[in-house]
Parts: sequence; C-alpha cells; structure tokens
Amino acid sequence: MNVAADKAYDVVIAGGGMIGTSLALALSPLGLRVAMVEAVERKASSQPSFDDRSTALSRSTQRMFEAMGLWPDIVAASTPIRRIHVSDKGRFGFSHIDAEEQNVEALGYVVINRILGGVLHTALDKAGSIDILCPARISKISLAPEHATAIVDHADGRTDTLRCRLLVAADGANSSVRNMMGITAIQSRYRQHAVIGNLLPEKPPNNIAYERFTDCGPLALLPVADNRAAFVWTVSETDASTVLELDDDAFIAKLQAAFGHRLGEFSKVGTRAAYPLMLSKAVRLTATRSVLVGNAAHGLHPVAAQGFNLGMRDVAALCDCIADNHASGTVESAIGDMGDSALLERYATWRKSDQKKLVQFTDGLVRMFGSTNTPIRMLRNIGMLGFDLLPGVRSEFARHTMGLAGRLPRLSRGVPLI
Ligand SMILES: Cc1cc2nc3c(=O)[nH]c(=O)nc-3n(C[C@H](O)[C@H](O)[C@H](O)COP(=O)(O)OP(=O)(O)OC[C@H]3O[C@@H](n4cnc5c(N)ncnc54)[C@H](O)[C@@H]3O)c2cc1C
Repeated sequence: MNVAADKAYDVVIAGGGMIGTSLALALSPLGLRVAMVEAVERKASSQPSFDDRSTALSRSTQRMFEAMGLWPDIVAASTPIRRIHVSDKGRFGFSHIDAEEQNVEALGYVVINRILGGVLHTALDKAGSIDILCPARISKISLAPEHATAIVDHADGRTDTLRCRLLVAADGANSSVRNMMGITAIQSRYRQHAVIGNLLPEKPPNNIAYERFTDCGPLALLPVADNRAAFVWTVSETDASTVLELDDDAFIAKLQAAFGHRLGEFSKVGTRAAYPLMLSKAVRLTATRSVLVGNAAHGLHPVAAQGFNLGMRDVAALCDCIADNHASGTVESAIGDMGDSALLERYATWRKSDQKKLVQFTDGLVRMFGSTNTPIRMLRNIGMLGFDLLPGVRSEFARHTMGLAGRLPRLSRGVPLI
C-alpha cells in the first residue's frame, strides 16, 4: 500500500521483525490506523528476524497466537516439546521437566523463524488494514505532548513523514529509535557466540529438548521436523570462527564430544551461522508518546529460549492497555488515546517485574554454569539434584519458562482483545 507524505496514524511501529509484526497483527482487530516500518525487504535472505534459527515458543506465546487466530498455521509447522532434559557435562546432576507432570499437552513448540515469518506475513497481507513501509528506515523522530513524528527514508529514495499518537520501537537490541527517544540501554557482551544449525541424530529426539551445560557454554538441542534436531551451541568469541570453518565431519565430532551419545551418532549437519551474544537492558520503557517492546527493551542470552516469548508478553500487555483505553474512548475520541502518558506508565509498571526476573534468570544461568569455581560447580550440581527431586520447585520453574507466572494480559491467557 502506498503511503502519502504527512499521513496520520494511531500507532507507528518501528521494526517489522518477529515482535513488530506480531504487534501489528495483535492490534488489527481494534480497527486502529497502524503503520509498520521495516528496514529489510520481507523476502530477503538477509531478513535478520526471520532467518534459519529455531525458536521455542512458550505456552503463553501459543495462547497469544491462538487468540489472534494464527495458531493452526503455526502449530502445523511446529514440533511439540514434551520433555526438557537439563544436564551438566561431566557432572552427576541432571534434571527434567515433563509436560505430563505439568498437566499440559506440550511445554512449548519449536518453529523455524523463517516459517513463522511466512505465517505472520501471510496474515498481514490478509489483514490488509496495516500500512507496511518496507524496505524503509525510521531515520529521525520528534516527540511532542500531542503527537510523535517519524521521518521514514525508503530504500528507493522517497521520504515520508508519519504523525502518530504512539510510536513503538520494535527495532531490535541495537535499536536506533530507542536512542532517538533518549533512552539508554545497559549492554554487556558475553564474549560468546551462538552457533546454530540442525543435524540428524541416530535416535529420534522424540519431542525432547536437551539443554546441556558444557565447559565452553550451554548447548541446546531442540526437536524439529523429520526427526532432526536444531542446535544452539554457545562457544567463546575466539572459538566461533574456527567452529564455523570446520568441515562437516570435524564439526559433528566436536559437537558430539560436547553433547555425548544420548541420541546416538550425529550426521548430516546443515548450514551453520553464528550470533554474537550480549545482555541489553533499556533503563526505561517509555518516553513522550513512545514505548519499547521486544529486544529494543531487553536482549537476552538464548540459554533459556525466552527472548521472543518475553517480547510477546510486552506485546500482550501493551495491547491490553490500548484495548482498555479503546473501550473507554469518549464520543469525541471514540478510540481513546493510545499514547497517553498514564497508559504508557501502566504498561511500564506492568512489564517491569517480568522483564527484570527474566534478565536475572538467564544472566544468572549463564554465569553460574559458565563458572569454573569448584564451590559454585558443587552448588549447581546439588541445586540441579534438588530441583529434580522437588516437584514443587520444578512446577514453579516450569510456570516461569512457559510464561505463565504473574498477572497475565488477555492475549497471554488466550483471550481475544475484543
Ligand atoms: C541463536 C538465538 C536463538 C534464540 N532462540 C530463542 C528461542 O528459542 N525462544 C525465544 O523466545 N527467543 C529466542 N531468541 C531470541 C529472539 O530471537 C529475539 O528475542 C527476537 O528475535 C526479537 O525480535 P525483535 O522483533 O524484538 O527484534 P529483531 O529480531 O532484532 O527485529 C528487529 C527488526 O527491526 C528492523 N529495524 C532495525 N532498525 C530499524 C529502523 N531504524 N527502521 C525500521 N526497521 C528497523 C530490523 O530489520 C529487524 O527486522 C533467540 C536468539 C538467538 C540469537
């Protein structure tokens, strides 16, 4: 859809990655005027959000997609996780969480980002009501009490000026819109890279996800289609290029040594890619008429597969606040004011605790399991054993990883906005 200069919107979303696109779709039933600006062409192989990674979708994300009517298409392309097996290489402690014990059909579902992108983009096209400016970048913003303005530079040289009541930054961990909002992020590099790809284990993974803590970092194996397993292997910054350059046999041998033979011999490894890892936390979530969601607000280590799921709970909470205002709109303003400072404050207060807990949890896991300190290693073995023997502790942990802890917004409970 072509957009005229100086067009007015209720909501402008900067970034059409996994979070920005999900937000645009979640808002669509409210009948708002929404524009989404995305820098990289949708079908480009360089699309950074919808690439070859696999994402473990939590139960709360599943419920959101159910409420949005997208779940049948996503589940058809996903693999359920019925058990999570956690172990520490060379140590006696190990643990597990079972779907049956938690009275759920699955603890989560694994989907390839590119496939998820296909489902979300098809839904966007069907919705028809969202203006998509792509490939285009937000290069400048101004924030005033009555409205926000975003200057959009299109790849073909055109420029648009968009006015909106609310500007949402969903442009990732290195968000330039966040900087333009005057919000700083505290960022620290883990000096690690996540090497991803998939392979064929001799024994089918049978819906079990494995998380193995090794001396060089955590290694996750997720069940995917055709009895293959997707791996996310954390290696040190210095080892990353060596690991990527290994030929397939040498790579498999190294990965096998790290994982062991619980799934028999590995073979047929696919294309590998590496992602530098950092922790990123925005110091605030809102500025005048603007708000942060997803990685723009918090970038996590993928050790617990929570970054996207946490971002989806940002989306759900923001939509809840907007839908409530929508319902209480006056006659003059039937849709309410979604950039109102009280609404933004409500969103920020709601999201604070969940975001803080997840940042501490994932960062704590990386530091604890990365430690070579003997007392810490002993503690974590005892902790893992205790965790395995105490179903109550396990259930509480499972509720957090499934995204079901705390006060949940409507969409995260599977309830449509209207
Ligand atoms: C190896 C790995 C495995 C992971 N596994 C999981 C998992 O299993 N489960 C899970 O929950 N999470 C996982 N994550 C985290 C998850 O991938 C991220 O949290 C998620 O992709 C964040 O999405 P986002 O849309 O916020 O940001 P991004 O994916 O970074 O998307 C930002 C988008 O904004 C666009 N953009 C940037 N600047 C501009 C601009 N100025 N104007 C317009 N557009 C712009 C970019 O082109 C991009 O499309 C994993 C991460 C990694 C690295």
